[in-house]
Amino acid sequence: MKRVLITGAAGFLGSHLCDRFISEGYKVIGMDNFITGDEDNIAHLFKHENFEFFHHDVTEFVRIDGPLDYILHFASPASPIDYLKIPIQTLKVGSLGTHNLLGLAKAKKARILIASTSEVYGDPLVHPQQEDYYGNVNTIGPRGVYDEAKRFQESITMAYHRFHAVETRIARIFNTYGARMRLNDGRVVPAFFGQILRGENITVFGDGGQTRSFCYVDDQVEGIYRLLLSDYAYPVNIGNPQEITILEFAKEIMKISNASQKIVFKELPKNDPLQRQPDIALAKKVLDWEPKISREVGMQKVFAYFKNLSQEKLFKREHKDFSSHIKR
Ligand code: NAD
Ligand code: UDP
Repeated sequence: MKRVLITGAAGFLGSHLCDRFISEGYKVIGMDNFITGDEDNIAHLFKHENFEFFHHDVTEFVRIDGPLDYILHFASPASPIDYLKIPIQTLKVGSLGTHNLLGLAKAKKARILIASTSEVYGDPLVHPQQEDYYGNVNTIGPRGVYDEAKRFQESITMAYHRFHAVETRIARIFNTYGARMRLNDGRVVPAFFGQILRGENITVFGDGGQTRSFCYVDDQVEGIYRLLLSDYAYPVNIGNPQEITILEFAKEIMKISNASQKIVFKELPKNDPLQRQPDIALAKKVLDWEPKISREVGMQKVFAYFKNLSQEKLFKREHKDFSSHIKR
C-alpha cells in the first residue's frame, strides 16, 4: 500500500485530498496544526483504518516513521484576511515548513508536490497568466508575506530537484471553491454566501471590476492528482479559465440563491490583483486535464453546502481567533 503525507489536512483543499487518496487505496497520513483549518473537515476520517493524523506545526522538524511514497505540502494560510492576520506564520510555513518537507522527501526518497498559487504572478501585467510569466509582486506590500513565501517555496523546491534530485511537482493553484471552506475566512465565495444566508448586504471591494476565475474543488483535486502522478517537474497552472468580474459574480450568486439584498461597495484592499485567469494549455498537454464543472453548477453545489451549515457556524461572523498560535 502506497503511503502519502498530506500537510494542511484539516484545511479546505487538504481534507478533500485526504478523501481522494483514501478512495484511491492509499494509506494517508494527515498533518495540521489547525491554525486556519477545522477538525470537522476530517472528523469522518478519524476512524478509517487507512488514515492517521498528527497534530503538528510543519515549521518544526517533521518526523514520520516508516516509508513514504508521496508528500503533498498544502499547509499554509490561503485567504488574504488570514495571512494578513498571521503574516509571520505564513512566511514560516512557506519557507521553513517547505524546507522541512523537502528534507523529509529527500530522506524518504518520496515524491513531493507543493501547493503554489496564482499569487506568484502578483497583480499580473500579462493576461491570461502563463507559467513562463515571472509576475508582478510588491515584496513589501501586505500580500507580500504570502506571495513571497510561495515564490521562495517554488525556488527551494527547484533547488532540491536540481541539487538533490528530489522528485518535485509544483501546482500553481488558481481560486478554488467548494464545501469545507471556512465561512468566515474572508475569501469571496464564503463571504458572499455567508452574507446572503444571514440577510446582510453584499460587500464588493473596489468597483467590482477586478476579475477572478473560479475552479470547483473536484476539478482542482483531479488536476493535482494527475500532476503528482505525472513526470513533469516544472510549475503547472491548475484552475478554471471561466473569468468573471467580482461585481458580475455577486449578481450571479444572488440569482442562484434568490437573494434580494443590496450590494455595497467597500475600499479595494491594497495590491488586490485587477485581473486573474489561468492559461491551462500546459495542464491540457502534460496532464490531459481540464475542468469539467462550470461555475454555475459548482456554485449551486457550494450554496447547498453552506445552507446546511449549523446556525453556530453560519453566525460566527467574527474572524478566527489566532491568539493561541501567536508567540509574542
Ligand atoms: P486552508 O486555510 O483551508 O487550509 C490550510 C491548512 O494548513 C489549514 O488546515 C491550516 O491549519 C494548515 N496549516 C497552516 N499552517 C500550518 C503549519 N505551520 N503546520 C501545520 N499545518 C498548518 O486553505 P486552503 O484553501 O485549503 O489552501 C491549501 C493550500 O492550497 C495552501 O498552501 C494555499 O496556499 C494553496 N492554495 C489554495 C487556493 C484556493 O483557492 N483554495 C489557491 C491557491 C493556493
Ligand atoms: N472580495 C470582495 N468582497 C469580499 C471579499 C472579497 O469584493 O467580501 C474581492 C477581493 O477584493 C478580490 C476578490 O473578491 O478582488 C477575490 O478575493 P479573495 O479574498 O477570495 O481572494 P484573492 O483572489 O484576492 O486571493
